[in-house]
Amino acid sequence: MPVEELKALQYKLMKTLVYRLYSFSPFYHDRMKNAGVHPDDIRSLADVKKLPFMRKQDLRDNYPNKMFTASTDELVRYHVSSGTTGKPTVVGYTQKDLDLWTESLARSLTACGIGRGDVMQVSYGYGLFTGGLGLHYGAEKVGATVVPASVGSTEKQINLIQDLNVTAIACTPSYLNHISDVAEKMGVSIKNDTSLRVAVLGAEPWTASMRDKIQERLGIRAHNIFGTSEISGPMFTDCAEQKGIHIWGDIAYTEVIDSETGENLPDGESGELVVTVLQKEAMPMIRYRVGDITSLDTTVCPCGCTHPRISRLTGRVDDMLIIRGINVFPSQVEHGLMQVPEISGQNYMIIVTREGALDNMRVQVELKPEFFSDKIEDLQAIRKKVAYELRNALNISVDVELAAPDSLPRFEGKAKRVIDRRVL
Ligand SMILES: [Zn+2]
Repeated sequence: MPVEELKALQYKLMKTLVYRLYSFSPFYHDRMKNAGVHPDDIRSLADVKKLPFMRKQDLRDNYPNKMFTASTDELVRYHVSSGTTGKPTVVGYTQKDLDLWTESLARSLTACGIGRGDVMQVSYGYGLFTGGLGLHYGAEKVGATVVPASVGSTEKQINLIQDLNVTAIACTPSYLNHISDVAEKMGVSIKNDTSLRVAVLGAEPWTASMRDKIQERLGIRAHNIFGTSEISGPMFTDCAEQKGIHIWGDIAYTEVIDSETGENLPDGESGELVVTVLQKEAMPMIRYRVGDITSLDTTVCPCGCTHPRISRLTGRVDDMLIIRGINVFPSQVEHGLMQVPEISGQNYMIIVTREGALDNMRVQVELKPEFFSDKIEDLQAIRKKVAYELRNALNISVDVELAAPDSLPRFEGKAKRVIDRRVL
């Protein structure tokens, strides 16, 4: 579609969305009123910047469904993601929302060269997380044969890749590295002994050099996928050119802003990604501050596609960590620690490393003086208790290290409790 036509379509969809939300959703009506903006004020795409931002906090404040713009009986699915204080965020979908998500992924997978004749192993988690089911329906839509492997049982995954002639895989880059390591131990070379030729990787930050390494080692093309549950799930990938992720303009309107001032940034400048989902029914999200750092490229891609692109994500505006594909907030750690009376929940350190291909998270916590003991059994019991509470709070297991009272660093001003030693 010519750029001007695409922009005209985006404007039409944006206008329709804003009128609908202002008229029918108390949440959005109040939001716009408080920001002093009326749908009539949106007279061009540039006027979109008059609309107020939305943040993840809005979803938490309106838990579970106060932001929904479809009635409960119109919903056909929920997805739920973890939050900072143990309170999750809930996303509802109508059938049309699921169709749109699938359509977006079908286009993206096509851009990755995946279609009929391919066998695609979906090794993202199936369940409340959007990765598994999202890729599953997208791959079926383009006519690929899906192997819904989910995460884990790595040796079995490798057997399936061999026995079912799997040609494409979707998972986190670190899990694909882990699969490759385990395969080597089994005496299987992914490059020489399998039909795998393409991977769709995401859900955690990874660099272009990591991509090159994966491509070289496995003899495949490694594509980059982007999406987050608040906008549906994983939806957008790069194309054969691998020069940025195409954001389908009729599905989402993309901005990159200065996260301090909220001002729009020009093409090529690094800032915070802001997305408006233009056609969603149950939870549209206007100017949603995704929190990822990227830059925008609105020039026509060498592949010929006119839809705008975003560059590889380089990090997060907030302090969220992604450990083995799961979102972890330091405040969740704090929440877990608070459940254990024997330790001081305020003094802790989080150390993240990458061991082999997998992320490892270690939490150091201080014992309260009255529980400081030289009886190893007592300490073991406390350590177990902490590990249990952290697994509950984070949905992943972490290593726990007990420290003597007053032995961990104290901070003046903003605490720096996270040491991320992963080299991306
Ligand atoms: Zn392209």
